[in-house]
Amino acid sequence: MTSPTWDAIFVGTGITSLACAAMLVKRDPGARVLMIDKHIVVGGYASTFSRPKQSAVFDCSLHKLSGMAEGGNLIRILRELGLEEELNLVYPDDYFCAYQDGTALPLANDAEHAERQLIERFPHQAQPLTTFFTQVRTYGRNGYYQFQMLDGSFEPDIAQLRWAHRNLKHKTVREALHELFDDPYLIEILAAPGIYVGGYSEDLGYLYYLHVVYATLHRGNAYVPGSSQHLSNLLAQQVERAGGSIMLSTAVEQITTDQQGNVTGVRTAAGDFQAPQVFINTSPHYAVDHLFQADIELTATREKLVALKPARSTTTVYLITDLPPEQLGLRHSESMLFAAAPATAAELRIDADLRGYPPELSEHAFWAMSPIEVTNYHALAPAAGRVVCINVLDSIEHWPTRRTAQYRAKKQRARDVLIERLLVQVPGMRGHILHTEVATPHTYVRFTNNTAGSGYGAMVGTDLKGHVFHHGFPVQGVQFLSAWVAGPSYEAAFGYAEMKSRQWRRA
Ligand SMILES: Cc1cc2nc3c(=O)[nH]c(=O)nc-3n(C[C@H](O)[C@H](O)[C@H](O)COP(=O)(O)OP(=O)(O)OC[C@H]3O[C@@H](n4cnc5c(N)ncnc54)[C@H](O)[C@@H]3O)c2cc1C
Repeated sequence: MTSPTWDAIFVGTGITSLACAAMLVKRDPGARVLMIDKHIVVGGYASTFSRPKQSAVFDCSLHKLSGMAEGGNLIRILRELGLEEELNLVYPDDYFCAYQDGTALPLANDAEHAERQLIERFPHQAQPLTTFFTQVRTYGRNGYYQFQMLDGSFEPDIAQLRWAHRNLKHKTVREALHELFDDPYLIEILAAPGIYVGGYSEDLGYLYYLHVVYATLHRGNAYVPGSSQHLSNLLAQQVERAGGSIMLSTAVEQITTDQQGNVTGVRTAAGDFQAPQVFINTSPHYAVDHLFQADIELTATREKLVALKPARSTTTVYLITDLPPEQLGLRHSESMLFAAAPATAAELRIDADLRGYPPELSEHAFWAMSPIEVTNYHALAPAAGRVVCINVLDSIEHWPTRRTAQYRAKKQRARDVLIERLLVQVPGMRGHILHTEVATPHTYVRFTNNTAGSGYGAMVGTDLKGHVFHHGFPVQGVQFLSAWVAGPSYEAAFGYAEMKSRQWRRA
């Protein structure tokens, strides 16, 4: 089949891909861009699914866009794309409300205020809390402006960078927080923002995590009414208005080359499409295993990819209530629910990992004891229905294959345990849940091909050697463009996409 030649083909229309394509056609309006996705809508995780009978729309990922206040990277990029007004952003009052034993501790969406609230609640930890928030403001800030550091528009204090490199870079969040604090509940509350990037305290590098806290608490966060799908659709529209084309329901089966180490395009069931540059938005493990011809020498890339560990996957329960959740006692847009014995959660997870994820132990460690994140979408965007979402970071390792009796029974258990944890903290919701659905790590793989169901790309731990897997990639003209290289979150996606679009030159 003959096809037009494109300047660039994007394999996948996840948020990193859409953001890059939109910025690329803005910088180079004549560029011919083709985006291909196997799914029926654009956006990857930045999409929705709806249940019209229940008048509900479920957001597959977004509950918090970071970097949305003045000085934030994401709001700056969205403004440059001319999207701020159309997005009609909502800025919630709370960062999140922590719940334990039925007691609520709301934290303001503002670093200084949140610091004061924590000192008031944990006065015996006042000194280490001051140290912690100073670290966020210093080292978290330096990490946050990493792209500006590369292009010279942000000049960090070199002494600070050196100190952080020597003293913080090699610590996990768990190690660093245990050095600072001795209150287990406070440690769990402070570690909770790691959930936003797919990692528990024992998984994430402390320096990286400080930047996550800085991005979300100092640089402001917001939600998009109409959901992540609205944002994805607006970006797709910009690509199409500039003459780009988007093909949905079409899986890329192969990335084609000229046998001399140069990419030539992609192969799909709808035909071959040619371009001298191909951006891969899928998981790199998936791409290397499935998308390249057998004669391409990828041994070195595969070896490097061994060190690129997936972030945690998620098990999600979507709920619809009969009354607005706020009236039932879920007053905040986001809540973090903590178990009664917070110190044991990490130990149980580490034990589950060491023992190869035995199902019973894993369910106890992840679902019953670990913090769970609850978004009251109705409080953010009532037009999408009386929707509440419960997320817990999970591992695919203890989930049986889909379409088996064991899988169905396990989904039921996950639903029961997670909903009961919500009802214990917010008893007013009992008897008011009309509809529930569960997404498992397998659901996440099925819809996006992301390795191990990770919705956050690669884990950013203390060892970053896997993160350079794409350096020296043996096929010229291929680039990777996803949370696996950008880092998790919409803000990281837009920051990386901006950098890639600036580097863009037509071949
Ligand atoms: C439950 C959950 C909640 C989250 N909440 C937030 C949040 O509140 N704030 C935040 O900032 N971040 C959040 N994140 C993280 C954020 O959603 C992700 O980091 C981001 O969406 C990943 O985007 P991506 O560009 O890597 O692409 P992905 O979303 O992974 O998309 C990849 C695309 O490639 C397509 N594809 C795969 N294989 C093929 C093929 N062979 N051919 C064609 N297409 C293919 C898929 O269909 C998919 O559309 C959350 C993630 C999850 C899972």
